[in-house]
Amino acid sequence: MTAPVNSLIWNMTRKCNFRCEYCYFPHDNTPVTETLPVRRVTDFLDATDRAWTVGLTGGEPFIYPGFVDICLALTENHFIGVDTNLSVSSKVRDFAERVDPARVQDLYVALHIEERERVRGVPAFIENARLLMDRGFKVIVNYVVHPTLEDRFPADCAFFAEHGIAITPRPFRGSFEGRRYPEAYGERAGAIFADHPEQGFKIAFNFLGVPCSAGRTLLRMEPDGTVMRCPGDKTVLGNVMEEVRLLDGAEPCARKRCPCRGLDHVALTPVQAALVEGVQLAVVGDDGGAGRAFARALDLAPGHPCAENNLGVLAWRAGDRAGAARRFSHALAARPDHVPYAENTSGAAGAADFDPALCLDVNPEARGR
Ligand code: SF4
Ligand code: SF4
Repeated sequence: MTAPVNSLIWNMTRKCNFRCEYCYFPHDNTPVTETLPVRRVTDFLDATDRAWTVGLTGGEPFIYPGFVDICLALTENHFIGVDTNLSVSSKVRDFAERVDPARVQDLYVALHIEERERVRGVPAFIENARLLMDRGFKVIVNYVVHPTLEDRFPADCAFFAEHGIAITPRPFRGSFEGRRYPEAYGERAGAIFADHPEQGFKIAFNFLGVPCSAGRTLLRMEPDGTVMRCPGDKTVLGNVMEEVRLLDGAEPCARKRCPCRGLDHVALTPVQAALVEGVQLAVVGDDGGAGRAFARALDLAPGHPCAENNLGVLAWRAGDRAGAARRFSHALAARPDHVPYAENTSGAAGAADFDPALCLDVNPEARGR
């Protein structure tokens, strides 16, 4: 059975029993008290006459009261996916025994290896992951390759592989010791992500102005039942405890940063699709494929500043500093107010360990990042 494209992201709680150092949620492990009657959610979904995948996320969904019963109610007519740290073993066992794997798109499990070691939770993690896999659930164990973990990442992969658990590397996004990631992985990205080109899909593009069906086919729901257009656009469409009015069709995106799930809901032109493909390949170190995609975009839209900039990033990686500088200045000439183009242009004239930024805009007229 194929999971439907209609997707509701249910942010169940901000509470979590872990306290990962880099987590932006408050470290609050008190009982979850703000709860929703799941029948309000199923009534809302059933009334759309469409099948949905409900992405259960948090915080940690397994600490939500009655979590497994909620999963059972949702999977009567719909599908679920779960983002979890897989640490609440009694609930995981209950889930594995009672929920139909055919109605679960995947369990997206964050390994958080240092936090897991701190709570001496590695054996329980392996046991829980194995239990779910043996029952037929698709378990994706992801590992953010933070620069501080890059050295130990291969050994961690080998350790979990011995237990039959494959690790999916995820690129770190952000700054560390003055370097910009994922760009600063440089040529190491090819080795880290060689078997996981799909990781390039998890990029927050700027789709400002692009028609998008979010608000109809993609929704985000808050712990109190408030329904918003999508995780990136917090326009309120109602509350499942009262009424929700979905949008009728595709409307232009009004945000400059789209969460990765938006890619399934935007209508891209061939130029925009080529730019997206190029960035996805560049992030995972497939510079050849990325270069061909950016060149295709440039053929379709000569002078496109995003394509120029990104070909400049590839030239820089290949050691062609003069070629990179030329590309960056072309991009800047087309968009003199674009801060990343200006930074790349000035950076290319400076230190060799500079990490020029990929442009994530798909509209030349989209402003800023
Ligand atoms: S497991 Fe996830 S939600 Fe919980 S503290 Fe870690 S990063 Fe935050
Ligand atoms: S493009 Fe992304 S941020 Fe914009 S409306 Fe669609 S899903 Fe939301």
